[in-house]
Amino acid sequence: MDKLSSELTLLSEQASSCTACRLAPTRKNVVFGDGNCLSDLMVIGEAPGREEDIQGLPFVGRSGKLLGRLLLEEMGITRKDYYIANIIKCRPPENRNPLPDEVAVCRQFIEGQISLIQPKAILTLGNFASQAVLESKEGITKLREHVFDKVIGNVSLKVVPTYHPSYVLRAGGMAMAEMRADIVRAKKLLGQ
Ligand code: SF4
Repeated sequence: MDKLSSELTLLSEQASSCTACRLAPTRKNVVFGDGNCLSDLMVIGEAPGREEDIQGLPFVGRSGKLLGRLLLEEMGITRKDYYIANIIKCRPPENRNPLPDEVAVCRQFIEGQISLIQPKAILTLGNFASQAVLESKEGITKLREHVFDKVIGNVSLKVVPTYHPSYVLRAGGMAMAEMRADIVRAKKLLGQ
């Protein structure tokens, strides 16, 4: 195993045994991340849902399928081409929003993943992930359509905020077109 993979595996093992916040007792699995750790693109969402908690993988439910379809159609990429993870690694009960202290204590893992993977761009999905990555209080409707320069740990990168696919599933039409446009924005940034 190469150095990057072994360091990511070590971080993943630390997350798997983490009991640092109140989400630990109710999780089935810690959902660390998935995909290509050599990719220039990271996709970051909020927290695992029911299906992700059961399978231990991010974005495997309905919204994950929509996300995968949009990334394939607009960028021509599949999960083996990008790395995907959530801000929070354990499922909040009843899919409630993560609480600020949970985000604060779990942040070490997503920051560790970013520092190891060193992506050129992050596509953030929805209000919560966009605010957490950008350390902003602005809502997603104000954040999207912009590209942000950000330094996270030792990594200088671009952040492209877009909707969470679960919102697009509910809202349909216009939101879907806007999310497609955001994905194309990320594609251009990466020179694809
Ligand atoms: S959500 Fe994060 S901080 Fe909380 S128990 Fe899970 S891995 Fe640890």
